[in-house]
Formats: sequence, structure tokens, C-alpha cells
Amino acid sequence: MSTQSTSWHARAASLTPDGRLFINGERVAAADGQTFAKHSPLNGQLLAPVARGQAADVDAAVRAARAAFADRRWAGQPPRARKKVLQRWAELVLAAREELALLETLDMGKPIAHSLAVDVPATANCLAWYGEAIDKVYDEIAPTADTALALITREAMGVIGAIVPWNYPLIMAAWKLGPALAAGNSVVLKPSEKSPFTALRLAELAVQAGVPPGVFNVVPGYGQEAGEALALHMEVDAIGFTGSTRIGRRMLACAAESNLKRVYNELGGKSAFVVFNDAKDVEAAARAAAGAVFYNQGESCNAPTRLLVQQDVLPAFMAALQDEAHKYLPGDPLNQSTEMGALVDAGQMSTVLGYIHQGQAEGAHIAFGGRRVRTETGGYFVEPTIFEGVRNDMKIAREEIFGPVLGVIPFANEAEAVALANDSVYGLQASVWTSQLDRAHRVARALRAGTVHVNQYDEDDITVPFGGYKQSGNGRDKSLHALDKYTELKTTWLRISD
Ligand code: NAD
Repeated sequence: MSTQSTSWHARAASLTPDGRLFINGERVAAADGQTFAKHSPLNGQLLAPVARGQAADVDAAVRAARAAFADRRWAGQPPRARKKVLQRWAELVLAAREELALLETLDMGKPIAHSLAVDVPATANCLAWYGEAIDKVYDEIAPTADTALALITREAMGVIGAIVPWNYPLIMAAWKLGPALAAGNSVVLKPSEKSPFTALRLAELAVQAGVPPGVFNVVPGYGQEAGEALALHMEVDAIGFTGSTRIGRRMLACAAESNLKRVYNELGGKSAFVVFNDAKDVEAAARAAAGAVFYNQGESCNAPTRLLVQQDVLPAFMAALQDEAHKYLPGDPLNQSTEMGALVDAGQMSTVLGYIHQGQAEGAHIAFGGRRVRTETGGYFVEPTIFEGVRNDMKIAREEIFGPVLGVIPFANEAEAVALANDSVYGLQASVWTSQLDRAHRVARALRAGTVHVNQYDEDDITVPFGGYKQSGNGRDKSLHALDKYTELKTTWLRISD
């Protein structure tokens, strides 16, 4: 073990995460005192008990959030004041960078280097960015006749329920919290039962930064208990959901069964990565594909898991892809040089291994990886896995695997590539590799996806919307567009002359 990883292990050993709820500015146990055990994917051992929030706890959190919204303790503050608080919060997140990064890694298995370099700074940046934006957003006056004045204003919506997944626990929470809180709403956040700790710590830092108690509450618990209670609550005005398409469907049903709350779904993906034979650098394409799929153990909604490669460059692409895969062999997540960590839990690992067996049974061939490794640790590690000979109608090409598994699908010409790329129920992201400018634009325009990358895959910024077409969702996180989700549009007419 390196000195660096020894010190992270020592810090992990002395850490006691607090899994209690955060309601009205305070840590509390669940109303009925129940907890569930949260184990670490690094070794399968108990991390800490977590409060098992249920309907009564969600109701207490929503009532606190509603009271905070009603007395305008946050919504009534000038945008400039909310900006300062969000900026302070971002600074506190950065000051707690190592603690939050360690919690994130122990909770969901990603490498500590990534938690430190990506997850925590991106979270702070998101909170600060929405804070900085909010006192620069103007309302509108409609171009009506001289006799009247019509104001079009945006108002905070009220109480937002945020339900988020476990793959980027901090970042997914921040993508909801930044715009919702900047706009003046109150929030009840339900983190995933698989990764609850950093959200709870984030709430403590929010209050320390000056977010008034009751404005931001966190109720950990299971989806069918705490999650459903939030989605069905009559006092919740909107649900910002990120997770699977299956549960996104349930969110819409919950809204229909309750108060028709707004539902913004950010769901799954099966993104296509299209490499033409005129790509300037086929090896660079292979490196980018491996990085995009194997980063975060393949547990990324936008991972381009369908690699469509023009037949004549397939051998060169495959050779480079296999070379690259070696860099992602799973290692100790607490070692700073590790590039791939553990899958989030035993259930996710068996789902991923199940898909690997399914791919073989359907006739695809494993060109790299395919096995569970590091079993001696007690953790949930799976090799980066490359399938070749994949057809787009195979299950491994149609369903989201959410693990380090990709499939290579050959194609003959541009029309076939576009048809294959679009032949999916999902439409989150896509990538096209070509040196022809007209082809790049033509294919980008034809691809039915919320984001299209040209000759790269890893550009990302808080300034651009993130979300999908088709069953990948109906909303957009990030950018100023996200503010639309958490505000109501009001028209105010004034007669000013006869
Ligand atoms: P999931 O749908 O199982 O769970 C997401 C959240 O919903 C969790 O907090 C869970 O507890 C909760 N939940 C589960 N059942 C519920 C119910 N009946 N009522 C209310 N809440 C419920 O998804 P997951 O496994 O946590 O995350 C992986 C999924 O998230 C993948 O499909 C991935 O593509 C998607 N994702 C999408 C984006 C995006 O921006 N489009 C980003 C990250 C992850």
C-alpha cells in the first residue's frame, strides 16, 4: 500500500458518518427510530447506520420547507443576498473537500482522485454559478398596445422535491439545489439509499453558510418509502428527478395520482459513439471512448456504450481500445493513482455480470475483461469489458447496463450509422468522429440526442444544458435553462390609459 493510500485508509478508519435526517436545520432520527445499514462497496463492511426516512419524516420535512417558503425567510431575500449565501456555501464545500471526497468514495466506490478533482469542485462550482447568475436574470415586458402594460415575471415555485441517484451523489444533488435554491425555493432532497452521506453533510454546510433552517432538508431512505412519499406529497410543487427510466415513469404516475406537480425527469441512456473512416485520429477516438465508458466504473448516464465503427477502421480502433482498457483495471479506490474503483453494491455487480453473461449467450465475443476481480477485498470490482461482434438488437446494445461494459458495432456507411445510433429508446448523448466539416454537422443534426460531441467526448461545463431526448428524460439540468424548471411564469396586466 502506498503512503498516500495508507493515509486515506487511516482517515477512513477514523470516520464516523452521520446518517440522521436533516430537517429544519437539525439532525434528527427517523420518527419511528428505524435505520438501515449502509455498507461500503470497497470491502462490503458496515459504514454506518442511516435513518430510514418514511412518509412521516417526509411530511415533517415538507412542512418545514413549506413554512420556510411561506414566511419568505429565503424567497423574500434580494437575489444579491441569496447569491452571497450560495457563494459562501460553495467556499465551505471546497474547504471540506477532503472530507466530502472521502465520504463519496467510501459510500459509492469511485476513486478518491476523482472525488477530489471532479465531484467536490464541480459541486461547489454549480452552487456558486447559480448564486452568481441569479442577480443577473431579468424579467420581461410584453410588446402590447400603449394602453396596457403586461409584465412577464418568474416566481419561485414553492417546495421542490429532489430525488437523485447514487452515481454522482454530490453533483446530481447540486444540479437540483443550485437552480432551485437560487430561485428562492425550499427543497426536500431524497438521496439514494446507496449513497446518502455527502448530501447530509452538504445540508449542514448550507446552514453554516446562511441558508435559513427549513429551506433545505434531506430525508434519506428507500425509494419506495421516502421517495414515493415525496413524489406523492400534496404540498410538493415539483419533482426534480434523476434516475432510471423505470422510476421516472413512476414519478409521472405519482404526479398524476396526487397534485399534478411538475415532474422533471433526467433518465437513462445508451449513447452512440460513431467513428467514421475519415476520422483524423482513430486511436484518439478509441482513447476517448474508453475514458468516457470506463470513467466512474461505467456508472454514468451518458457513457457512450454503443461504439459504432466503420468497418475498414475497425481493426485499428479495436487494437487501440484494448490497449487503453489496461489503464482502467480496477484498483484500491483509496489509492490516488487508481482510475477505476468498485461498483456501488453487490446487487449492481450481479446485474453487470448478468449482462456480461447475456452478451456471450447472444453471441457477442469478449475482447477484453468480463470478470469480477479483487474478490479478496470483499468489494465489488469488475474489469473493464469490451464486447465485439455486437448487433444493435442484442440486449447488451438496447438496455442500460450501468457498469464498465461496452459493445462495438460495425457499420458500412453514413446512413446506416445514423439509423443504428438513433435506433434506441434513449437519446441522451452521442458522438461523431470525422474530419469532414459537412458530415460532422449533417450527422450531429440527424442524431436524436440532447448533446452531440464532435471529435471528443469529455467537454462539459455548467453553462450548457444536460438532458435527453426520448426516454432519456423531459428536462434539462445545468445552464440558465434549469431555472425555468423551478420557477412559475406569471403575467401581470395593468391598464395604464383608456
Ligand atoms: P433509480 O431510478 O433506481 O433511483 C433513483 C432515485 O430514485 C433513488 O434515490 C431511489 O431511491 C429513488 N427511487 C427508487 N424507487 C422510487 C420510487 N418508487 N419512488 C420514488 N423514488 C424512488 O436509479 P439509480 O439506480 O439510483 O441511478 C441510476 C440511473 O440514473 C441510471 O438509469 C442513470 O442513467 C440515471 N442517471 C441519469 C442522469 C441524467 O442526467 N440523465 C444522471 C445520472 C444518472
